[in-house]
Amino acid sequence: MGTYATVSVPAGEARELDRVATAAGGHFREMESSLSIFKPGSEISRLNDAAGIAAVTVSAPVEDVLRLSVHYSEITGGAFDPTVAPLVRFWGFNKGQLPAAVPDEAEVRAILAKVGYRNLVVSNGTAALATVGMGFDPGGIAKGYAVDVCFRAIGEETVRNLMINLGGNIRCRGEAEPGRPWCVGVRDPFSRDSVMGTIRLDDGMAVATSGNYEKQVVIGGKRYAHIIDPLTGWPVEGVASVTVIATNAVEADAMSTAVFVLGARAALPIISRMPGCHFMLVPDVRPAGIYLSPGAGEHFTLAPSATVIRDP
Ligand code: ADP
Ligand code: MG
Repeated sequence: MGTYATVSVPAGEARELDRVATAAGGHFREMESSLSIFKPGSEISRLNDAAGIAAVTVSAPVEDVLRLSVHYSEITGGAFDPTVAPLVRFWGFNKGQLPAAVPDEAEVRAILAKVGYRNLVVSNGTAALATVGMGFDPGGIAKGYAVDVCFRAIGEETVRNLMINLGGNIRCRGEAEPGRPWCVGVRDPFSRDSVMGTIRLDDGMAVATSGNYEKQVVIGGKRYAHIIDPLTGWPVEGVASVTVIATNAVEADAMSTAVFVLGARAALPIISRMPGCHFMLVPDVRPAGIYLSPGAGEHFTLAPSATVIRDP
């Protein structure tokens, strides 16, 4: 999945750590082998290769990822849409060729025609992309899904307290130490070493961050981020990072990408209907400020140097 994973347990359960780490590594490798778009012959590669030609059989976890993808596409009005694969490659990500100059609108429109989650059909152990040239990109959801699989598989009988982190997709059980909850920092997108604040994660909670600093391309002297607006076909501008807390990791992952596309104002009514789901958004404007959705403040402690933005 092109990233690192860590597992943490409190000192009192340290003797379980090797076993937990080995198990987690196994789960992540297994998920990667079926979901990777870079491994020829993976289930997702077979789905993409058969676009516009045939349906392919998929395993239960892959079917689960595809169904969850459609669900988050639907509830976000298509702001989250993993069929953006052709656009992601067009803009030079995922081993696509970097455009020599800023593309014109007609070129973008031509690629956009191959995008749309409504043309991803999932039914009873099979999946199909309806038209030639379509592609499924699991990048906005697979890590969160893998964290949940791992979280459920490493049960309470193994460790009572646990934090799993797969490339910034985090889920926790119990506490970091007796009487002290798990906490994670929200990075200042403009300064690698400082934080905007910290998030307290109660038992079972998850958090994920999407940042424009993660992956970028430079075209015509301008930097473009790796999250694409599926409605326009252009990389999203104006947002530096979005952090979402949720009751599970797949929701945090999908929604951090979705809120990045939607922006704070459009995200608010959607997030407010999702129990336990809150977001923090840092606009791409200096000096850094952070907007908190209602309810996010309950879990968030602002760093002394950081400022809150009141108006979404
Ligand atoms: P990260 O890759 O850093 O974990 P995200 O979870 O936000 O960050 O996922 C971004 C990835 O999702 C992109 O690299 C791309 O593969 C894919 N993607 C880009 N735009 C969208 C979108 N609008 N909806 C769903 N997936 C997207
Ligand atoms: Mg995501």
